[in-house]
Amino acid sequence: MDFAAAVSTVATAVGIVKDLRGIEQGLDKAEMKARLAEILSTLADVKMALIEAQEESREKEAEIERLRGSFALKEKTIRFNGFSMLAFEDGTPRGMPFCPRCETVDGVLIHLADARGSDCLCPQCKATYSRVPRYLWER
Ligand SMILES: [Zn+2]
Repeated sequence: MDFAAAVSTVATAVGIVKDLRGIEQGLDKAEMKARLAEILSTLADVKMALIEAQEESREKEAEIERLRGSFALKEKTIRFNGFSMLAFEDGTPRGMPFCPRCETVDGVLIHLADARGSDCLCPQCKATYSRVPRYLWER
């Protein structure tokens, strides 16, 4: 349930309370109890909806933070032989390139890792690449 559904459920609860106020004198004790139980059940639904919405909101905040970090890192990259790479201050490529698939599809920068032979493997999406430029991390 999202925020819109939670708001709709609250509106339902408010509607029930308004109905009760309008007809409270005509209700017997059992009817009043039934209506109160209905309100409590609706409010419990609202509570669950808000907890779920809060969790969704936290996940979205974490995703925004991850993307911000990725954008900040992307500003430090250069293009080299078709790959995005980190660079030393003089513009020389540094270390392993980033996975082109993860960069394009997911918007994240994941360093490739050495795989068997001359191939490289993305530890995130498991894509493999050949003829990958490799440079020193430090010098
Ligand atoms: Zn990847």
